[in-house]
Amino acid sequence: MSRTAQRVSLFQESVIREMTRLVQQEGGINLAQGFPDFDPPQELLEAAQRALAEGYNQYAITWGDADFRAALAEKMERYQGVRYDPDRHLTVTCGATEAMMATMLATVNPGEEVVVFEPFYENYGPDAALSGARLRYVRLDLSRPDFPYDPRELERAFSRNTKAIVVNTPHNPTGKVFRREELEHIADLCRHYDALAVTDEVYEHILYDGAQHVSLASLPGMARWTVTISSMSKTYSVTGWRVGWAAVADEALAGAIRKAHDFLTVGAPAPLQRAGVVALGFGGAYYREMAASYQRRRDLLLSALQEVGFRPTVPQGAYYIMADFTGLSSEDDGTFARRLIREAGVATVPGSSFFHDSSSGRRYVRFAYPKREQTLQEAARRLRAWLRRPPVGKADRGGLAQGCRGTPSRAVERG
Ligand code: GLN
Repeated sequence: MSRTAQRVSLFQESVIREMTRLVQQEGGINLAQGFPDFDPPQELLEAAQRALAEGYNQYAITWGDADFRAALAEKMERYQGVRYDPDRHLTVTCGATEAMMATMLATVNPGEEVVVFEPFYENYGPDAALSGARLRYVRLDLSRPDFPYDPRELERAFSRNTKAIVVNTPHNPTGKVFRREELEHIADLCRHYDALAVTDEVYEHILYDGAQHVSLASLPGMARWTVTISSMSKTYSVTGWRVGWAAVADEALAGAIRKAHDFLTVGAPAPLQRAGVVALGFGGAYYREMAASYQRRRDLLLSALQEVGFRPTVPQGAYYIMADFTGLSSEDDGTFARRLIREAGVATVPGSSFFHDSSSGRRYVRFAYPKREQTLQEAARRLRAWLRRPPVGKADRGGLAQGCRGTPSRAVERG
């Protein structure tokens, strides 16, 4: 008899975190896992230290510190345009990761279907496996600038067996920011099939070139059909704090999520929720400056990738770039990503991690750029040096597409 349960055999170890471990072993720059290599705002660090010193070291209320929920409701009204009752609608969780898991466990019965846009953030696969959900995939077109989906394909994915749709906007890994008309279409389908929307909005403030973030919950009547998930991690550069939330303007749904959350983790870190009150009170300038600094990082990495011969997608939000590497190598994505760590000292995530059938992601690697500009410049320098590196022998060329290495000008034209 197997000593492990069947449910954990349904998914693999996280490839994102595997790449992080690999680059830590080999040495190099981690553009794989999406977390900052810079500090959060000083004010936030001081608030956390104060909370520890002031004695916030025992459990907070299971569904979240009361002041944190009040500050969150206020911020969500200001930025999402949705009014939640902090006592009845909000649950503070250990990051958006737990919020998504608790929501799936609380709403989806085994065998029911959940629609997801593909490529998708790798957690949704294990979330579905653990809750018994069957995923239905709808393709985003990576060859077009705003990564559209085919409306008919989305309509075909919905049926009477659809329990929910996951909408991640801004989107990991493409950087797509769903347009209002797209969200209206999704909302119509949810109403028609009595399906829930579960949104992952952790990149809500990381937007480029004037892109606007629209919360599905803000569309007429959708606040009680939509579980809005987000977190402090990306917005305030505190991915290790594990403070996220799930918001839904329906007491029965929120109550079900709270029950799942209670027995998964009891609660999110109490002192860090206290510090979170300070973060949630930041003014508009904080968010504008953060978005502008990410736009500079995006542009820096985009031009380096084009110069080296990748064909990168241009994100409208979030902080990832999917880069087509077929101009550089005919290897599969996993082999190429591992070689890039070994030879160039730059870690990425193999594209197949974001697709249910790995062949669809075979030509991509994902670069994450929540990094200091000097880190990105160093990564660019390493990639250029790697490109110029004379191939030592046939084996070393590792399936390099003929004639591409050492022809950066051609690569730029292609980009
Ligand atoms: N969301 C981040 C990413 O896509 C971090 C993933 C993780 O390790 N939880 O890289």
